[in-house]
Amino acid sequence: TLMTIIKFIHHALFGKLLIDQLIPSDLYLIMIKIYDPENEMKTCRNFNCVLHSKYCCRRTSNTSRCLNLGSYNYLGFAAADEYCTPLVIESLKKYSPSTCSVRVDGGTTKLHTELEELVARFVGKPSAVLFGMGYVTNSAIIPCLVGKGGLIISDSLNHNSIVNGARGSGATVRVFQHNSPAHLEEVLREQIAGGQPRTHRPWKKIIVIVEGIYSMEGELCKLPEVIAVCKKYKAYTYLDEAHSIGAVGQSGRGVCELLGVDPADVDIMMGTFTKSFGSCGGYIAASKEIIQHLKLSCPAHLYATSMSPPAVQQVISAIKVILGEDGSNRGAQKIARIRENSNFFRSELKKMGFEVLGDNDSPVMPIMLYNPAKIPAFSRECLRQKVAVVTVAFPATPLLLARARICISASHTREDLIKALDVISQVGDLVGIKYFPAEPPKI
Ligand code: PMP
Repeated sequence: TLMTIIKFIHHALFGKLLIDQLIPSDLYLIMIKIYDPENEMKTCRNFNCVLHSKYCCRRTSNTSRCLNLGSYNYLGFAAADEYCTPLVIESLKKYSPSTCSVRVDGGTTKLHTELEELVARFVGKPSAVLFGMGYVTNSAIIPCLVGKGGLIISDSLNHNSIVNGARGSGATVRVFQHNSPAHLEEVLREQIAGGQPRTHRPWKKIIVIVEGIYSMEGELCKLPEVIAVCKKYKAYTYLDEAHSIGAVGQSGRGVCELLGVDPADVDIMMGTFTKSFGSCGGYIAASKEIIQHLKLSCPAHLYATSMSPPAVQQVISAIKVILGEDGSNRGAQKIARIRENSNFFRSELKKMGFEVLGDNDSPVMPIMLYNPAKIPAFSRECLRQKVAVVTVAFPATPLLLARARICISASHTREDLIKALDVISQVGDLVGIKYFPAEPPKI
């Protein structure tokens, strides 16, 4: 069969990486169909997050409510919130949904300025600038920071927006092994000295780009070690905190706070508002000089319509809740809850015998399925039992490293998590993805 031929080529000739690049996504879908003829790809991806933070709806003829273990609603701000929502509604009435203008013309409201100051204060940098989309923040900013004659050294699992920004910059791009400061140092040494004694550095500028939490792996960045290497070789650090800002650290200030890193040691901090803050848009926080340079030169600042005012208000309100400036301690409770929830869920999954990637405290937990043919059965069975999970596969992961990616939220109750664990355990037995012996229950 086609599958046998592909497997043969895979094992005998090419090796995993090459075959991943060779198999187009259509062929991948055919492979899934061969493995699982009853599979309905539509069904396995068929849920849609709506309004309620921890619930989503099955988009089938019988619409029903499912527990949402798939979206990035880390602090639960994607649902109506007693503090945020009235302020967002007020801002909608006052400013309308769009400024219909770029920042440098009529697109800067009081809210935009307030959020820039608040973000800078929250992440611990002198200044910040906002963008309408997180994706655009990376892809448009990187080319404004480094260009021809410069060098970007990027983690091999960095997000596509970073890859696009790096490619579009005109700089030389080198990749280091995922989360390996030792390999980063090797690449830097090679690029600076190239094995030759040199009298000058061959690069105008070197930027090392990493993520706080890797979204497909659930892993925390080895930031202190990365910074030490960058300091040694005089390279700038660029940290994407899309999945870590708000979600980790004692007061939600991300991986710097969690790992005891001084924000002054990170040159450029990037983040998005689409995860912990329940809104949309992105930011760069850095020195006043860098932010000024970006405001004067970045096309996405100069020529793109500014962030929607109600979206800005949502982030302002969410950060105020996190900081306790709404007059309650809900923010601290949410941060404590996401940590407890994440650590509880991860350790229970491991006890059941699943292979779970990522680190403690990270709300992102990939459960390894490996074989892509297990995707439809896993997600369909979970969905049938009203638990919605996101499955990730080729081309987002290597072909034989398919996984289900659980995202935990502060809005999940212990009861929700126990129900989800029960369902995932049953489905795990059915599909055969408990790769380790289960731990016997403690008496
Ligand atoms: N960076 C990372 C690491 C991401 O995971 C994402 C999206 N999930 C983005 C940037 C883009 O952000 P947004 O979805 O807010 O545009």
